[in-house]
Amino acid sequence: MIDTQAPSRAHNFCAGPASLPTPVLLRAQQEMLDWGGRGVSVMEVSHRGADYIALAAKAEADLRTLMDIPDEYAVLFLQGGASLQFSALVMNLLQNRADYVLTGAWSAKAFDEAQRLELGDIACAGSSKDTGYTTMPHIDARQGIDYLHYCANETIHGVQMFNTPKIDAPLVCDMSSCILSEPINVREFGMIYAGAQKNIGPAGLTLVIIDRELLGRARRICPHILNYEVQTKSDSMQNTPATYSWYLAGLVFEWLLEQGGLNAIGTQNRHKAKTLYDFIDQSDFYSNKVDACYRSIMNVPFTLADATLDARFLQESSAAGLLNLKGHRVVGGMRASIYNAVPQEAVDALVAFMADFEKRQG
Ligand SMILES: *Cc1c(COP(=O)(O)O)cnc(C)c1O
Repeated sequence: MIDTQAPSRAHNFCAGPASLPTPVLLRAQQEMLDWGGRGVSVMEVSHRGADYIALAAKAEADLRTLMDIPDEYAVLFLQGGASLQFSALVMNLLQNRADYVLTGAWSAKAFDEAQRLELGDIACAGSSKDTGYTTMPHIDARQGIDYLHYCANETIHGVQMFNTPKIDAPLVCDMSSCILSEPINVREFGMIYAGAQKNIGPAGLTLVIIDRELLGRARRICPHILNYEVQTKSDSMQNTPATYSWYLAGLVFEWLLEQGGLNAIGTQNRHKAKTLYDFIDQSDFYSNKVDACYRSIMNVPFTLADATLDARFLQESSAAGLLNLKGHRVVGGMRASIYNAVPQEAVDALVAFMADFEKRQG
């Protein structure tokens, strides 16, 4: 892939939809009007055509290579975002009871959506809410549950569960904001799902990776479009998929393979996060409240000692080409999302800006 940095690209710390690798966007730009000599763009062809089917299969094969996904797992390219999976997974997997771990805004939402359906007994197996979601709770799952749901990385609160819970039931994990950020062992999970717009590609696509053993349990009320078994049998083409998002995700997978895969990208991600947390920790002006061992390597929330300076920080950082640093409204302060496509140089530039701002205002 072409590796020229386009000169006008800013450093983008947006939490999602997030930064995409410049070489991927250049390739998409190159192919926009004429996809490989076909005289049309990828967006303008049938998803049933041989060319598109080959593209879709290549994207899946590259993802399987990247994440080392065994054949016993189905990989689905769906729509509706991670939020629709909050309901879909319940309709597909819940027989009687399931437990949820509450570690931040997203897992709390998943729990709420599961309860809303009234399809069975949904309980909380541990919550860190009373700490303001700054640490990880003890997990106490019930016997005989159909699955345990948790969120590996809480995008809003900046807390990450680095160790997979060891329990005797299928694990269902929302990996929307940490998928592809470092190697994981897919075999430890019953199901993994992720909205694409953080670390995979543009919005509109949702990945589901599911142990085939868990297929075939869907409740009767489950729409066919949301039924993982039906979608597995139709290669995620039960209806028209998000063809362009799928194509771009495929380019991101190729880019990740060129970077050396998830081991290499994981090392870079750890280094980026360490750069930022180390700087925050040595400063009296900036702070991050999350327990050191659970600090997210993808989303770094931080506050300024004087919140009346927030607006000036945002205005000046944006003028310096450091974009989208405003924290989520439920947490306040700032947040730097440093996904795969955000390079070390962006983090270095952010730290240099923060140091300078502190010197002038602190
Ligand atoms: C962004 C996000 C979601 C919601 O994703 P949508 O695709 O907007 O539904 C859910 N969970 C996590 C962890 C997220 O980061």
